[in-house]
Amino acid sequence: MATIIHCLRVVPKVTNTNTEPFVSLFAKRVSRLAIVASAASFSSSTMSYEKELAAANKAASLAARLCQKVQKELLQSDVQSKSDKSPVTVADYGSQALVSFVLENELSSESFSLVAEEDSGDLRKESGQETLQRITKLVNDTLLSDGSFSASSLTTEDVLRAIDRGRSEGGSHGRHWVLDPIDGTKGFLRGDQYAIALALLDEGKVVLGVLACPNLPLVSISGDSQHSSHDEVGCLFFAKVGAGTCMQSLDGSSPKKVHVSTTENPEEASLFESFEAAHSLHDLSSSITKKLGVKAPPVRIDSQAKYGALSRGDGAIYLRFPHKGYREKIWDHAAGCIVVTEAGGVVTDAAGNPLDFSQGRYLDLDTGIIVTNQKLMPSLLKAVRESLDEKNSSL
Ligand code: AMP
Ligand code: MG
Repeated sequence: MATIIHCLRVVPKVTNTNTEPFVSLFAKRVSRLAIVASAASFSSSTMSYEKELAAANKAASLAARLCQKVQKELLQSDVQSKSDKSPVTVADYGSQALVSFVLENELSSESFSLVAEEDSGDLRKESGQETLQRITKLVNDTLLSDGSFSASSLTTEDVLRAIDRGRSEGGSHGRHWVLDPIDGTKGFLRGDQYAIALALLDEGKVVLGVLACPNLPLVSISGDSQHSSHDEVGCLFFAKVGAGTCMQSLDGSSPKKVHVSTTENPEEASLFESFEAAHSLHDLSSSITKKLGVKAPPVRIDSQAKYGALSRGDGAIYLRFPHKGYREKIWDHAAGCIVVTEAGGVVTDAAGNPLDFSQGRYLDLDTGIIVTNQKLMPSLLKAVRESLDEKNSSL
């Protein structure tokens, strides 16, 4: 049985068995890492990143507006054009061009490096010309809808150049913006969750992150939510190193500080995971949550909206175990990671190591990504290790 809550999918309950709490080895490792992380973040926290955060919020909000327009048209279209993947292509490139343009425009005095998913190769071909025209119109219409850019009109060449700013390799020196122009393209096409995810790396550390989630309800989406309506949607999460995480509506309500769930009882902790079984091993996460004693059924949603929802305490655990051979990209986690950690949560790989965003476009990590609060992390890591051992021994 699958229950549907607005744009979310909740899957049936699993049977659970409690496990003994806690292993000290992991606790020691997490606390040692916390000391290293706080020392590393000290130099970053002396920077304010105020101007950068304002620019990132503006860029992500405008990109969200562009994507919403395309998704609305897509959902109103007939069945035949729904099977056509071009709307997501247009929104993906359009979002990247817009974010790239707005950041460079707002922060014009700085040297600008962007690590992003798309490049303009296909759009420069003869077959891409019509799509390029559509994208350019969409970007210009969106800029026009914002008073401060009313004088800007980009040519197709400007759009191609803005997209190609995203070719940076990132790395451990200097500043690099990291962008997923539409994270969760499958969700976007289904009319479900997606996010515009933007982060800034400074000397290899994530120092700010913004998640625009146009379809995420403003109220909690946890399984036990008392709210009967999820009609009001559109959240903007933003975090700056040392300054916490805030959420506001994409329409511009006043920001409120958010915090991860403080539960230490796994029975109260619900799980987020990918909607797409191809992106994460659902069987493995089910085995882990069974060991832990989680009672609620998993909530399966697309994109880094999972990190956003977790940062405000909607659920307490996010597990991601891609199929063998998949390499995680930094733009799929950088913004989500700081949104959760600044809200008091912890993000590690399956061995309990923090994610390292300084190695270029890919994350170099031990199997899987694990997100939860400080109290649950030790027992969660124990359950992860046991389930992985069982899986490996059954091969
Ligand atoms: P989610 O919506 O959380 O499942 O994550 C969406 C992201 O998963 C996309 O932005 C892709 O970069 C990434 N992705 C694509 N293919 C895979 C895969 N085979 N395994 C894991 N992640 C993937
Ligand atoms: Mg993505």
